[in-house]
Amino acid sequence: MMYESTRGNYSKVTASQAISLGMVPAGGLFVPQSVPQLGVDSYINLSSYQETALPVLEKLLTDYSHQELSICISKAYDRETFDSSSVVPLFDLDEQRSVMELWHGPTAAFKDVALQIMPYLTDFAKRKCGNTMHTVILVATSGDTGKAALEGFKNAPGISIVVFYPHGGVSEIQRLQMATTEGNNTAVVAVRGNFDDCQSGVKELFADSLLRTELNKKGIELSSANSINWGRLCPQIVYYFTAYADAVRRGRIKKGEAVDFCIPTGNFGNILAGYYAKCMGLPIDKLICASNKNRVLADFFATGIYNRKREFYRTNAPSMDILVSSNLERFLYAVTGGNKGLVETWYRDLARNGSFTVDETTKKAIDEVILSGWIDEDQVCSTINRTYNTYGYLIDPHTAIGVALSEFFRKRGRYTIIASTASPFKFSRDVLGALDGRAVSDNEFDCIIKLSEMSGLPVHYALEGIRERPVLHNRVIDKDKMRETVLEIITTFL
Ligand SMILES: *Cc1c(COP(=O)(O)O)cnc(C)c1O
Repeated sequence: MMYESTRGNYSKVTASQAISLGMVPAGGLFVPQSVPQLGVDSYINLSSYQETALPVLEKLLTDYSHQELSICISKAYDRETFDSSSVVPLFDLDEQRSVMELWHGPTAAFKDVALQIMPYLTDFAKRKCGNTMHTVILVATSGDTGKAALEGFKNAPGISIVVFYPHGGVSEIQRLQMATTEGNNTAVVAVRGNFDDCQSGVKELFADSLLRTELNKKGIELSSANSINWGRLCPQIVYYFTAYADAVRRGRIKKGEAVDFCIPTGNFGNILAGYYAKCMGLPIDKLICASNKNRVLADFFATGIYNRKREFYRTNAPSMDILVSSNLERFLYAVTGGNKGLVETWYRDLARNGSFTVDETTKKAIDEVILSGWIDEDQVCSTINRTYNTYGYLIDPHTAIGVALSEFFRKRGRYTIIASTASPFKFSRDVLGALDGRAVSDNEFDCIIKLSEMSGLPVHYALEGIRERPVLHNRVIDKDKMRETVLEIITTFL
């Protein structure tokens, strides 16, 4: 199976070329030319995450061998990296709803599921493409992605990683998580500026053709680890299959019965993986797109108008504070039956005017699969509180948005699987505040301990002992020094 650009501006490529290239050089994203089918009997009786991942990834990454994929899967998902033998366990909330816990990996958030395997997929992709360059992954982070990417890529052969974060702009725990990262190929840099400064700085480095030529001469290429790369997106398709199979095995649903999935959404990566699972034949009725106060997607699904010209809010679910959801482009490509002309026009409008409007036919096709809604920050807190007091189940603010939306659509009567995207311990202060305002302290570490005492749950392993670990990265730079910093750091990697 081949991959092509959503904007029709690149030749067809293999899966390994799509992964090695990252994004389409002229703009646009790689998508499967036609989505492969996976019959229910090929996964329903497989009991482990690793076993199920194999047929799913084999269908999608057709130029990887069975053995190569087995190696990637077994290295990425073991008891060293995930503290649950199921990798993504299912928790039954009530008779109609379960929660798939995507946060058992080394940074306590769902991005680990993809970022743990992506380096192995990238390594094989480079070998297949005869790419002998040293790859330097550049990441701009507002906190969570940086650590997940560092954990995934540390000590990866032929690959190094440099992470930029806003100085003073991440939580103390996030800062320490990143600054204590080991590995001989990692660098973490604080930038005097905000997240946008880091992000636009990294984008400028990618667009800098002089820099690229200079690096290429030294045998170095730049790449990115975010969900515009197919190697980051496709591993996320797996857990829709494992969660469904789990629900059948436990008698929550009958084999073949359609279910809804409810996904707290920011960049539209996670929910898009669910859409591909549906296209591959997984019995999914609706995908519920759950947004926070930055409700650009909820508004789009309600009206057919995507408008990013609006106020940006910093909320208690920071990983969903996004106004441009990159992966929506892949979804629009798929629901229009691969209409590259339409996609190209919409994204030109978005670049020029900050908005675009889809036609009636597209809107109808979207309504066939997507339900959506949003909640504000107070509702996030009340949902955390209600879920704990009703079910004894602790959830983080992002997951709370999914839980609230699943309640909103409860009358549909469909069994619903909610994606839980972060461990409650990762957002201890907010979770504690939602449960009992008096218990909150300014020190995040105290909040983690109090939350553990109050709930009787052990602290997530990713957050244990960070206070004691040695700080290995403490570089702080001005925002106009990112280019020279990258050049200087790179020499230490070679
Ligand atoms: C990244 C993230 C999200 C949003 O996922 P998308 O794939 O960007 O839609 C939601 N919750 C948490 C905790 C995240 O880290």
